[in-house]
Amino acid sequence: MALSKMNRIISGGLWFVSRARSAPKGYAILLYHRLHEKDPCPSGLSVSAGEFERQMELAARLGRVVPLSDMVSMVRGRRSPDRLYIAVTFDDGYEDVLSLGLPLFRRLSVPVTFFISTAFIDDCSRVPWWDELHGIAATGRALGLDGIEYGPSREERKEFICRASLKLKYSGVDPRVVMAGLRPAGYKRPESNGFADWEGLRKAARSGYVEMGGHTVTHPALSISGLSEISEGKRRLEDELGVKVRFFSYPFGEKRDISQEAVIAARKAGFLAAVTSQSGFNRAGDDLMRLRRIKFSGERRADFETNLRTGDIKRGISRAYSFLSGLGGAGRFDVSRADGA
Ligand SMILES: [Zn+2]
Repeated sequence: MALSKMNRIISGGLWFVSRARSAPKGYAILLYHRLHEKDPCPSGLSVSAGEFERQMELAARLGRVVPLSDMVSMVRGRRSPDRLYIAVTFDDGYEDVLSLGLPLFRRLSVPVTFFISTAFIDDCSRVPWWDELHGIAATGRALGLDGIEYGPSREERKEFICRASLKLKYSGVDPRVVMAGLRPAGYKRPESNGFADWEGLRKAARSGYVEMGGHTVTHPALSISGLSEISEGKRRLEDELGVKVRFFSYPFGEKRDISQEAVIAARKAGFLAAVTSQSGFNRAGDDLMRLRRIKFSGERRADFETNLRTGDIKRGISRAYSFLSGLGGAGRFDVSRADGA
């Protein structure tokens, strides 16, 4: 084995072990979407309310949970973190976050920021494509996309969802038109999108635990279209909720979804800071318009703790993988998803 490879393996292993064992320091913004009681939602974007509660208890043991606005002030003030600071965010505006989350936020004294896409609040029959896509895939009927037919096997369903998501996000065609071409004959569309209503959001805004943030109107990939929705969504939220909307979340939020024009438009719309879905801790002095977050769904508390200790599961996994592969481990880690919201 080459010496440089050996060095890389040893340093990767030592880095991961030391980060996983020492008291973490940094600015961590957690990204959630939905909560469920018993059954996870088909899109895989939910975490159970019980698991969320346990994660918040663990977060309070590992660091200090603060409002996003406090964290933004600390990052802007170039204050090097003396410990782990954690801010909690929920994207999109689903109702389950109000009904299951609000009592928990109050009981655990957890301040949260909601990022709302307003079109789904204005029209409860408008179902986001990522939810409908999973609904269609669950039907078991043959599905077609661009001349290719996909059968009912798990692998084919996964492939269909991945390919359809890319088309829905990046083709530039209105997702409602794309979806119309994907629904199999006889598929019954859901009547409600499961989003909150304005009254529910007003109640949340008054609870003292929730700050409202912008997430556009229809949730487009801003590198492709919809720049005017950044300010439109902000205006709509402020009109309906009577609060100042200071923070923004880029829809989908990965690097390829955020153009320089989108960053400029968010700043111009008057947002003080904006969050992405790119993984990792934030550091003092980081760009406030491209803050990183750590994404959670499912029930993997060990991952939750590892992420909070290491700040970046992708980097942590690749370093751990580099370490393990040097010991004879095999396999490939693929932690990317095409259909996240
Ligand atoms: Zn979203």
